[in-house]
Amino acid sequence: MNHNSILLGLIGEDISLSRTPAMHEAEGLAQGAATVYRRIDPLTERARNRSLEELFDAARFAGFNGLNITHPFKQAVLPLLDDIAEQAAQLGAVNTVVIAEDGHTTGYNTDVTGFARGLQEGLPDATMTTAVQVGAGGVGNAVAYSLVTNGVEHLQVADLDINRAQALASNINSAIGREAVQGVDARGIEDAIAAADGVVNATPMGMSTHPGTAFDVSCLTSRHWVGDVVYMPLETELLLTAQELGCRTLDGTRMAIHQAVDAFRLFTGLEPSVDRMRATFLAQ
Ligand code: NAD
Repeated sequence: MNHNSILLGLIGEDISLSRTPAMHEAEGLAQGAATVYRRIDPLTERARNRSLEELFDAARFAGFNGLNITHPFKQAVLPLLDDIAEQAAQLGAVNTVVIAEDGHTTGYNTDVTGFARGLQEGLPDATMTTAVQVGAGGVGNAVAYSLVTNGVEHLQVADLDINRAQALASNINSAIGREAVQGVDARGIEDAIAAADGVVNATPMGMSTHPGTAFDVSCLTSRHWVGDVVYMPLETELLLTAQELGCRTLDGTRMAIHQAVDAFRLFTGLEPSVDRMRATFLAQ
């Protein structure tokens, strides 16, 4: 692509607080390209009542180099794409779309690759044979896929809505061709956590708006590794408790930063600076 200027966007609902636009704009500028990253939200006045297809086509025809796609469109965008990378197609969810000069579109899932990179960076050498993940929503789908394709052999996914947990398990098991994931009820999940090598929170519990933890943390001991996808606040009650116990921890910033790092590389072909993108993320 031409690196004199970079035009990117995020299509999703309620995205005014997203830290992704600033990460891309600062990184592009630091690499010498005038970079603009627009929020495209059909709940705002400017785009109200526009369908995903209209918003997507508008960006494509206007010469955008790439789009991030977030809730509630990560599945709905698939039929609009010309090509889909294998991981994203297997999972059935796309969060990054590269738009070529001629308008050809390719979908990727950098939530999956970003979580995996954070895992390697934040928990190198951790035993990953068995794990429990609490939360089977949008983020949970990408995290579970990432865990079982990056070392976890047996993953129990627990949710208050057991149907969601079971649907996630069957989707991922059929995608990867082995019975790696089991969907279970979140009530009473503490025994499974006590027996596992590690646990990941993929629920909103721990956010300032959802204080507390998704499970009783008295099941944790120092031999567990503990991950959280929540990053507002940076140190959730779960992570603080785990650190006090001496557990190895992985906070939610790594996934949030690395999904953008991987997307920037795909959008531009340029190698981003992880430290610079992390600094922009943390400064917001
Ligand atoms: P979602 O609403 O799609 O899914 C949340 C799931 O958690 C639901 O299935 C719900 O039933 C379940 N749940 C809620 N409370 C529970 C509990 N106490 N026990 C068991 N299950 C419970 O949400 P999402 O889009 O998957 O996002 C989850 C969180 O991820 C967000 O709240 C946000 O804090 C965080 N997030 C992190 C990143 C990142 O890059 N690190 C990106 C986006 C969102």
